[in-house]
Amino acid sequence: MKLISDNLSFNFKFVLTLFLCVTLLYSFIFYMIDMYILSAVSFLGLFVYAVSIKSIDENEYDRVFLLSHLHIVISAVLATIILGWDYGFYLIIIAIASTTYLNIFKNRVITYLLAGFDFAIFIFVYMISNIYFPKEPGEFVEIFYISNLAFLLFLFVVIFKVYGIVNQINIKDLHRYRHELKTASQTDHLTGLINKRALNIILAKKSNKTITIAMCDIDNFKSINDKFGHNVGDEVLKTLAKIFTENTNKSDIVCRWGGEEFVIVATNTSRINFINQIQNIRFIINQTPVKISNNKSIHFTVTFGISDSGTDPNKLTDQADKRLYKGKRSVKNCIIAK
Ligand code: GH3
Ligand code: MG
Ligand code: MG
Repeated sequence: MKLISDNLSFNFKFVLTLFLCVTLLYSFIFYMIDMYILSAVSFLGLFVYAVSIKSIDENEYDRVFLLSHLHIVISAVLATIILGWDYGFYLIIIAIASTTYLNIFKNRVITYLLAGFDFAIFIFVYMISNIYFPKEPGEFVEIFYISNLAFLLFLFVVIFKVYGIVNQINIKDLHRYRHELKTASQTDHLTGLINKRALNIILAKKSNKTITIAMCDIDNFKSINDKFGHNVGDEVLKTLAKIFTENTNKSDIVCRWGGEEFVIVATNTSRINFINQIQNIRFIINQTPVKISNNKSIHFTVTFGISDSGTDPNKLTDQADKRLYKGKRSVKNCIIAK
């Protein structure tokens, strides 16, 4: 993303530097043929493009576009009126009007206004220099016409290149937003674990694989919240999530199912090994303190229900859930596996 933005600013700076050189060259040529007003207006470009190049670093593309656009239009209008239609400065108005196609402005209305302004200016210049005050071509008419035509073609190339880069940026942005949105919708903010929705998507993809499901619920969590506050409750949830991720296999899936309930899915472990693993986890939970103040900590316990092994996630989840509540109705802080 950054590379493409850098690419865009580099291209803009390159084009503006070229404009700066061209405007100085035109200023010199106008001076040599005694067209002092045109020479002065072209010379103004030195400041316009210097400011514009600096504004690129501040990401002020709107300002750059408007400034350089106006300078080029004014220069071209004056040159057409003073020298006459045959010198081809009207080509520069066409070239610069077509850059509105890039739609640089955040507010589209400005783009349409600018395009309308360019159109009106073109008609105005046409009337003045063709109908009301036509001029006989003077010196260097062919040279000016060819260089103005070259400017028009050069600007077309620039437009296509910049348009390509702007499109690339939009597409990259879209991919990034989509990725962020997807991550946000499938991750539990507090623990960083995947949520129920994400787990269901993963399980749907594993529909013909043998899995075992452990469902876990924190014991008396409401009273932890009530006694020590919601923040301590949150710490318990985070601690539990950490214990799960640190003590399960890479192939296991750990999920915050909702509230104070978690699900662990074993995809590559025999049921007996999985039960041993859960026993070890329960032991670690019993040993892990959660700090509630500088010199005080609490312990918490959990109850697990473990399903049989099978291929139907819904059936297995139901089974694990029933066994969990069997555990809840008995002593809690236990594992029920049948
Ligand atoms: P049991 O041993 O039967 O599971 O009892 P329990 O108190 O754990 O269960 P109960 O369903 O009565 O209470 C669950 C509590 O979990 C209630 C709710 O406020 C709390 N809880 C749910 N989500 C969060 C959370 O994100 N943060 C905190 N701090 N508490 C939460
Ligand atoms: Mg519960
Ligand atoms: Mg509970």
